[in-house]
Amino acid sequence: MTYLDLFTHLEALAVLTVIFILSLRFRFVDIGGIITSSIVGYLIYVFGGREYFLALLTFYLISVVFTKIRVRRVKNLQNKEDGVRGWRNVIANGGVATVAAVMAGLSTHEELFFAVYLGAISSAFADTLATEIGLLYPKMPRLITNMKEVKPGTPGAVTPLGYLGGLAGLTILTLLTSLVQKRLPVNEVAVTVYSSGLVGMTIDSLLGASIQAKYRCTVCGKLTESPHHCGKSAEHLKGFKLIDTHTVNFIATLVGATVALTILRYISY
Ligand SMILES: [Zn+2]
Repeated sequence: MTYLDLFTHLEALAVLTVIFILSLRFRFVDIGGIITSSIVGYLIYVFGGREYFLALLTFYLISVVFTKIRVRRVKNLQNKEDGVRGWRNVIANGGVATVAAVMAGLSTHEELFFAVYLGAISSAFADTLATEIGLLYPKMPRLITNMKEVKPGTPGAVTPLGYLGGLAGLTILTLLTSLVQKRLPVNEVAVTVYSSGLVGMTIDSLLGASIQAKYRCTVCGKLTESPHHCGKSAEHLKGFKLIDTHTVNFIATLVGATVALTILRYISY
């Protein structure tokens, strides 16, 4: 029960303070994003433990580094606040994982919730890296549903480079997790991380291409995933208004967590 240990709380506070300062200094996330990710990080640290936090930190640091590289080389014209993540992004990518880590700390089925946690993190990590690295692809991406060429940044757009980036991230996560944890056998960690990550990022693209809301700007005529553009309300084209990019990310992490649970319950023992 790591959350009952005072030393764990002090360690979490110390580590998170360092990350908090670095995040402020390098503008990884906006202030709402920093506060939300500190809460998420703290809960994961004290209820899950160091191994859980290491997976989260890997996701966080590698994602922000690639976001910075990508923003420097190509701006995503879809998004004004490009490269600086807010609280919605943190909840969408880390909400399911946080619940899994808290459940792991409170329950007697710790290895089960550890797998669910890994599944949610893998999905968010693979999708974030695929998006950021995919935007560096020199050719036009294609929509995952009909494989037609679309503009970079279109919801549901995929590239071979993005998939490779996602796979590379999952490989790093598998290696680091295998080194530090003793709950699950290494092959189980690998199967969980790769399956949840690949299914999660594919579901994210499929939902992005289908049910996610899309708008057209009434001023400049551009297609956008935001209901506002050029300072005005944009015209709703298709998809459900309630389903934005954050909702899609959240559902994808839930699917990643479910894949991990299914693997642990029915495929391995
Ligand atoms: Zn516009």
